[in-house]
Amino acid sequence: MIMQPILPGATIGVLGSGQLGRMFAIAARRMGYRVHTFSPEFDTPTGQISDVEINAAYHDLDAVRNFARNVAAVTFEFENVPAATAAAAAEKAPVRPAGEVLHITQHRLREKTFLETHGFPVTRFAAVRSRQELDDAIARIQLPAILKTAGFGYDGKGQFRIARPGDADAAWQGVGGQEAVLEAMVDFEFEMSVVAVRSESGAFEHYGAIRNDHVGGILDVSIAPAPCDDRIAREAVEIARSVMEELSVVGVLCTEFFLARDGRLLINELAPRPHNSGHLTIDACVTSQFEQQLRAVCGLPLGSTYRCRPSAMANLLGDLWCRRDAMVEPDWNSTLAIPDAKLHLYGKAQARPGRKMGHITAGAETPAEAGRIVREARERLTA
Ligand code: AMP
Repeated sequence: MIMQPILPGATIGVLGSGQLGRMFAIAARRMGYRVHTFSPEFDTPTGQISDVEINAAYHDLDAVRNFARNVAAVTFEFENVPAATAAAAAEKAPVRPAGEVLHITQHRLREKTFLETHGFPVTRFAAVRSRQELDDAIARIQLPAILKTAGFGYDGKGQFRIARPGDADAAWQGVGGQEAVLEAMVDFEFEMSVVAVRSESGAFEHYGAIRNDHVGGILDVSIAPAPCDDRIAREAVEIARSVMEELSVVGVLCTEFFLARDGRLLINELAPRPHNSGHLTIDACVTSQFEQQLRAVCGLPLGSTYRCRPSAMANLLGDLWCRRDAMVEPDWNSTLAIPDAKLHLYGKAQARPGRKMGHITAGAETPAEAGRIVREARERLTA
């Protein structure tokens, strides 16, 4: 049964309180919705924009039910929300995407098994639950490989490269002897993502292929459109579309790919929510990924994803503040002197190395030029 649309003026609940929730809340407030956020922290990036900031633990299921009772629908801004939390919320309000999508995508092994079972292209992988299984997996997958914790991994956390057999002990210790996945290292040309949205009625919109460059496992710069053959970009979109159909996703989902040197696309992972690589859609596209999420969650028609011009985004990590053993405020003035540079900051009180504090976007005639501008804009912060 298709639910009645949730119209402006209604209240949307967000589980999680980081920058993704913040940008979602900004889109929602702009369209006249109210926003409640739920997380164990205070004065959060999302809370600063929300009408109500609930501060409780995710496993406090009575608090979760109470939160859900007061909103028209619940969404989440990070996928590590425990399944029991999503289920408790679903007792009181529709949860979108559904808890089942969360359940699959928050666990690498479940996610990869799901993708492989449904015929999607993934990196060769093997489950590892003991030190012996790690040796067996190395024999099967071969080196170089990368050992990743099955649960609660993001931004390269919980990942250990194994170049030679002698690295196996350290990698097994690194994952803390927990359930893990051994993956073959992919020799890729570059990484790309397709950020797309699916509505309850099955309508689908996407932002095309976006090129992503990572540094130290964390996204550094995204460029749209990705500089690749149209055929490859179309193939990536078709894979993303099929994945979302198969999962019956309602909302935004990002499919991250490796474009291998032999031209094959391999799915690295799925993120069932707006994604860092889609931040450039705020300034570049008619409808941002966050507004699409709102529209999908509320059962409204999806908006146009038309991109007005090529665009790029550079992340601003806490490292920009932490210099020469002291905290130094970045030189915003110098960066904003570039007329095309758009600054987004997440309202985080404390900068720490590796912490995502904000991002810069820019549009230009070509994706490469947009990339050059955002890099220069970021360099000026610490020049
Ligand atoms: P993940 O958290 O799994 O997305 O990994 C973070 C980053 O590590 C990726 O975006 C890649 O840059 C790199 N990486 C992860 N897995 C692999 C792999 N199997 N082969 C090559 N690079 C990888």
